[in-house]
Amino acid sequence: MRTLFRFPDRETRHDWDLNCIETRFFVLEIRIAILSNSPAEDYDDCVHGSPSAKEAPSRLAPKPKPTVDLPRMERAVREILAAVGEDPDRDGLLETPGRVARMYAELFMGLHLDPGRHLKKVFVEQYDELVLIRDISFNSMCEHHLLPFIGVAHVGYLPRGRVVGLSKLARVVEEVSHRPQVQERMTHQIADLLQQELDPKGAIVVLEAAHSCMTIRGIRKPGSVTITSAVRGLFKTNQSSRAEVMAFIQGRRSDIQ
Ligand SMILES: [Zn+2]
Repeated sequence: MRTLFRFPDRETRHDWDLNCIETRFFVLEIRIAILSNSPAEDYDDCVHGSPSAKEAPSRLAPKPKPTVDLPRMERAVREILAAVGEDPDRDGLLETPGRVARMYAELFMGLHLDPGRHLKKVFVEQYDELVLIRDISFNSMCEHHLLPFIGVAHVGYLPRGRVVGLSKLARVVEEVSHRPQVQERMTHQIADLLQQELDPKGAIVVLEAAHSCMTIRGIRKPGSVTITSAVRGLFKTNQSSRAEVMAFIQGRRSDIQ
């Protein structure tokens, strides 16, 4: 099943110069596979200039809460094993609760991080054309079934004199995805973060993902892909610019094949 691209109906009026987006877009395209969940700041950025900072936490900043309780998770996993009729004390399962607890801590590490912090450091650049990173791989956990959904994110924005390090967009995707999620909300959260932190002329986020809860249980439709999109600013008000960036995103298939 493939759901159609959905663009919000809420149209907002802005005084921005629509002519600027009639110009050709230069696509900055990188394909980033995040190989580590480490929040370490060790990726190279491709943008140079004068940094400016806004240090207020974003709306996705974690609220004060207990840290991950591994023993509690271990007890819960052991209880699930017993509840499904297994023997949690047999050899093969003895270390499973601890292993699963550490896995969940990793998969939900985004709950304890503020993804907006990656967008605080911006660079003043007179570049006002499209910046698009497509095929940012991600994995997240469906909050309804606690099963993974895995796919790619395409994240783009039209700068308003300020750009952010390219790898930061992938870091935002990484941390927003590593929490109990639904794909629709995740799409909006990434777009809102871009809009709030970078104040671009426009932002667009498209996610494509396969949901395990659709493929291995329930209706069992392997191969189905769910596509969601969120647009902000000029991409919402200007159909031609939106169509153009969507063409860039969709065009990759012919590139790959
Ligand atoms: Zn689900």
